[in-house]
Amino acid sequence: MLIETLSVFPEMFDTVMSTSILGRASRAGLFEFRAHDLRDWTHDRHRTVDDEPYGGGQGMLMKVEPIFEAVEAISASGPRPRTVFFTPCGDRFDQACAERLAGCERLLLVCGRYEGMDERAYDLADERLSIGDYVLTGGELPAMVVADAVVRLIPGALGDEMSPVDESFSTRPSGGLLEYAQYTRPASFRGREVPPVLLSGDHARVDAWRRADAIERTCRWRPDLIDGAGLTPEERDRARELVARYHGPDARPARE
Ligand code: SAM
Repeated sequence: MLIETLSVFPEMFDTVMSTSILGRASRAGLFEFRAHDLRDWTHDRHRTVDDEPYGGGQGMLMKVEPIFEAVEAISASGPRPRTVFFTPCGDRFDQACAERLAGCERLLLVCGRYEGMDERAYDLADERLSIGDYVLTGGELPAMVVADAVVRLIPGALGDEMSPVDESFSTRPSGGLLEYAQYTRPASFRGREVPPVLLSGDHARVDAWRRADAIERTCRWRPDLIDGAGLTPEERDRARELVARYHGPDARPARE
């Protein structure tokens, strides 16, 4: 997989993309990363990438021409990349989106700055993504968030001993539930005990406890996820009780 970014601060990616799991995955050849500098596609002495908005208003906007030239030039070499533009107005990035993007051969992540971009630049976007309902100073952090979430899904990126399939929001196999509670040594800490079933060595009972705990935690903290979680009829009944317990009898029950 090839992941590329286009931004005015390519140096921001140096540490994140070369450290820990991302760095190890890159060195292992599981993906390649390139950070492009948008200013390389400007033609004036000051390497200008921004200008004042038509109609007045605060701040500066990213100009359309360098973005078009850059995306066209980058895309022309090799397979066509899936091109993602970051904007608070985009679709909300989530684990299902990360799983979808992890299946792409090539990703180009285009980062805004200033007050955003000339609207015409978005004509190049296959999709516009937001990482949440808040406004950051630039798209570089969202690009790092997406790159991190995607790379850890590449088979082998987490190492043989770890798997991303049983985590919070994973669409497979848990259907997007929150992850169950986990514990490590000691078994007893200041009166806080690890649930005895986890010490039993009985894998079937451990699996059953984890499934029940994932459902309970999701009902408690993210009841909005329960509808899409693919629960069995018995689990749905239990979820209905749990949602009522944590959020009151009028809370919307899990779908039939
Ligand atoms: N004026 C824009 C608005 O109100 O929607 C905000 C522009 S923001 C200051 C500059 C750039 O940061 C955006 O073009 C985008 O690339 C990035 N950005 C900021 N917040 C973001 C978010 N929540 N998700 C994704 N990108 C974001």
